[in-house]
Amino acid sequence: MGKSTLFNRLTQTREAIVHETAGVTRDRHYGKSDWNGKEFSVIDTGGYVNNSDDIFENEIKKQVHLAIEEADVILFMVDTMLGVTAGDETIAEMLRKSGKPVFLAANKSDNPELHIETSAFYALGMGEVYSLCANTGSGTGELLDAITASFTDEGVDDEENIPKIAVVGRPNVGKSSLINALTGTERNIVTPIAGTTRDTVNTRYNKFGHDFILVDTAGLRKKSKVTENIEFYSTLRSVRAIEQADVCILMLDATQGVESQDMNVFRIILENNKGLVVCVNKWDLVDKSEDNATKKYEEYVKKQLEPFDDVPVIFTSTVTKQRILKAMEEAIHVYENRTRKISTAKLNQCIQQYVEEYRPPAVKGKFVKIKYATQLPTYYPTFALFCNLPQYIRDPYKRYIENRLRKDFDFCGVPMKVFFRKK
Ligand code: GDP
Repeated sequence: MGKSTLFNRLTQTREAIVHETAGVTRDRHYGKSDWNGKEFSVIDTGGYVNNSDDIFENEIKKQVHLAIEEADVILFMVDTMLGVTAGDETIAEMLRKSGKPVFLAANKSDNPELHIETSAFYALGMGEVYSLCANTGSGTGELLDAITASFTDEGVDDEENIPKIAVVGRPNVGKSSLINALTGTERNIVTPIAGTTRDTVNTRYNKFGHDFILVDTAGLRKKSKVTENIEFYSTLRSVRAIEQADVCILMLDATQGVESQDMNVFRIILENNKGLVVCVNKWDLVDKSEDNATKKYEEYVKKQLEPFDDVPVIFTSTVTKQRILKAMEEAIHVYENRTRKISTAKLNQCIQQYVEEYRPPAVKGKFVKIKYATQLPTYYPTFALFCNLPQYIRDPYKRYIENRLRKDFDFCGVPMKVFFRKK
């Protein structure tokens, strides 16, 4: 009915501007958006539902339930051409009970006749009806103004310099077990049932000679609610944890390899420009008799992550406690990499050398001259290179500069950006 169109509209505008990591395919259901400088995550619930007729009462209802519980703001989209449907009424009922802020968007109301029809949606009792046309984008500005105006600035950082580390991954890979092993408590209830952790709880630790905060999905959720929506639910949880963290430990199950759901979490980490440590867990269950088993597995994992493969990969077992501490130490190392600032003098000296060794290819007989470079004061490493003809710089050259910087300054595990700008 247009949710995906609106979703794409909200997330791709931004992608065109800041999504510089080449070759990364996007998750269809998750994206970052910003409007007037307010950044937010958008999740398309519909994307998780199969197309069939009897899904409404079951799947959509369940997903709306989860979305209501997890989201800060709900965008409820209805179709002006269809008018108020029984389905709309069911959802409106659920939304009203939730008490969460809801914005009702009447899609496909782009001609004057249909525009009049949108008033019918006031009957849903959701307050203001925002008319829009997801295809052309008309009306989305007003809607976004209203939505972003409702945001409150919560979670102000009072612990600026302490690494916030999140353990993320799909259900049952061993996240709770890792946290328990690290913290030595049974705060997280470990059970073999998927999807039993809930609620993000940040706990500060001073252990192993480091000060750090674990962004933790602790507690128990009624399993009846999540059994059929595990992927959707865990995506919602991951987004929360990832947004709050500086560095994410992405856990994989060694016995299962890298699956599409792991890749989704990986992309959310990348989209948020967070540090990354890959933890291949349950390594105790893998047959390691083959030569170089660990090395081969590491190559396999990195292949999946390309082109962002400058990432620590650790092989752990929460059962034998193998390399548990190492995973945490790597996360802190990645945090340090992510906060590294290179002096402008040093940076320019290096860039000059990189350019001398491999010049940007000439385009139409014109040469790009890079004059000056600086690191921008962002949370993650961002470098601006000023030159005469930035439009002639292609991705391979950007990657060349990025890779040289990675080698010389150790940005392992850290997404970074290299921009070329006209002086
Ligand atoms: P979560 O859903 O990601 O938090 O996963 P859990 O920590 O609840 O672990 C899921 C299941 O995998 C539990 O039965 C754990 O005992 C088991 N498990 C976790 N880590 C390991 C490991 O390193 N080796 C083995 N053999 N089993 C593990």
